[in-house]
Parts: sequence; C-alpha cells; structure tokens
Amino acid sequence: MSKAQQPFAVGIDIGGTNTDLGLVTAEGVCVRRQHLATRDFSEANAYADALANAVRELLAAQKITLSDIAGIGIGAPNGNFYTGSIDYAPNLQFKGRVMLKELMEARLATTVTLTNDANAAAWGEKVYGGAKGMNDFILITLGTGVGSGIVVNGQMVYGHDGFAGELGHATLRPNGRRCSCGRRGCLEEYASARGIVQTYRELRRRHGLETPADITCKDLTALADSGDALAQRTWEQTAKHLALALSNAVTFSSPEAIFLMGGPVRAGHWLLDPLRIHFEKCLLSIFQGKTQILRSQLADNDAAILGAAALATY
Ligand SMILES: [Zn+2]
Repeated sequence: MSKAQQPFAVGIDIGGTNTDLGLVTAEGVCVRRQHLATRDFSEANAYADALANAVRELLAAQKITLSDIAGIGIGAPNGNFYTGSIDYAPNLQFKGRVMLKELMEARLATTVTLTNDANAAAWGEKVYGGAKGMNDFILITLGTGVGSGIVVNGQMVYGHDGFAGELGHATLRPNGRRCSCGRRGCLEEYASARGIVQTYRELRRRHGLETPADITCKDLTALADSGDALAQRTWEQTAKHLALALSNAVTFSSPEAIFLMGGPVRAGHWLLDPLRIHFEKCLLSIFQGKTQILRSQLADNDAAILGAAALATY
C-alpha cells in the first residue's frame, strides 16, 4: 500500500507544557487522542521513550498496528524538516539540538516527519482543510506567538536551512516594541494575543485609563461587542498591522489565499472586516483583488494534530 492509502496517520503536537497525540483518518478526522506532559522530561531519550509508548498505546486502543498508519508527523517549536531535529527551542526543557525524528524512528518501525508547528498547520490546511487543491497559499497562526507556513507551487517553503516562513518576526516597526527574539517591532509583538492586549493597554493609558491585569485577548472581542470603543479600535489597529505584513508577504509568493488560525481569529468581523479593507489598500496594484483572506477550516482543537498528521502523507 502506498502511504496515502493507509487508513490512519499519527499526528503529534509538541508544546512546552503538553504533547498531544492524535490518530487521524485519511479523511482528516481525529478519532483518538493521547497526552504526555512535555514538562516532566528534561532528557530527550527519556522523552522519546515515553512518546513512543504513547504512540503504541494510541494504536492499541484502536486495535491497529504500525502497518496501518501512513507514518508519524510531528509539529514542534523550532522543528527542522531537513534534519528532523528540534533546534534550541526556548520553551522546551531539552537543551541544544534534539534529533527527535531519529530517536523516534529508532523506537518505532515507521517513517517520522518533523517540522515546525506553523508549517505543520499549513500542510494540514492543504491536506484536510480549506487549502485543498490550492498550490499557493500562506497560513498564519495567531496565538502566543505568530507563526506562518508558506506553500509555493504546491511545495512547503523550507529555505536552505529548513526555517523559512517566519513572518511573525518580520519587522513591522523598526523602533517598535521589544520582541522575545531580541529585536524590535516584529509582527508578533502586535498580532499575537499578548500583543493585541498590549495595544489595548496602550490605548487606554493614552486616555488615562488603567487596564485590569487579567484582561485577555478573548475579553477584547466581548468588549468590542459591548461597545467598548477602545477595544474596537484595538482590533482595527491589529488589522492594520497584519494588513501591512500580509501585503508584503504577497509580493514575494503571490498566494491565492491567506488563511488565519488561532484564538484572535475568533474576534471574527472585528478583525477580518478591517483586515480585508486595509490589506487591499496596502497591496501592490497588480495583486489587488486576487488574494482571499480566509479563516482556517481546521477545527481549532484539532488543528495542530491534523497538521502534524498531514505531514505523514507528505
Ligand atoms: Zn521577533
């Protein structure tokens, strides 16, 4: 059987706190899940042992074996597709470079494919979501950070070192907010959930208003709904920032669509309506009216697992 004909694939989403595993059907339905506390492991070999066991348990629960899966896909922070390694991920306890593909293939007789989480999400959109049949698109993940996966001519763009597609760290304002990457004014500092809340705080401060410490990005949608003018303006400003970054991205890859995924996208029209307007204004004229801005069609809860599983069919 060719890879694509196997009835299942295993998707693994590695985060700093938890690792989520899912068994995904060829139609893109996650039928079983398993969890592992990433934080419990500071040593890569012990983590790989536990992860391999979790895969075995996942398959056993469905009464299938490794021969029934197309392979294992892993989405990980700083995951490198070329080397199959996780390189110096700041939010993981494993230090340095972890050759996770190699460690997993030594434990399980199947193919393991690894890349970073945003690239995995983009491939998930292509295999199971709204980008089916599209050869040129960009997927942006808005969350704790801002990630991106870029598909050109039907291929994921990895670049010469495997790390291409870091639009979250494209400079938006050269003297802007300090970014976790050590530079200033990256898109991530304005369009991540944290960055959006900061915009709201700054707007309120300018009006002499304090902002409750526990306010979240999710609250800003409810506040905008209830008529809070500064929350509404926060979404408008976020849209302007994103529009500029996305219009620049269009100039180098001419995508058919840009998909948005993640918590802030739940703001719906507060974000998407002004984004579409400002995006068109920012675009070079030859690109105007040609690139759609769409919400991801992968369910939020399953998106990371589906993306990882999609890698197994790569
Ligand atoms: Zn940055």
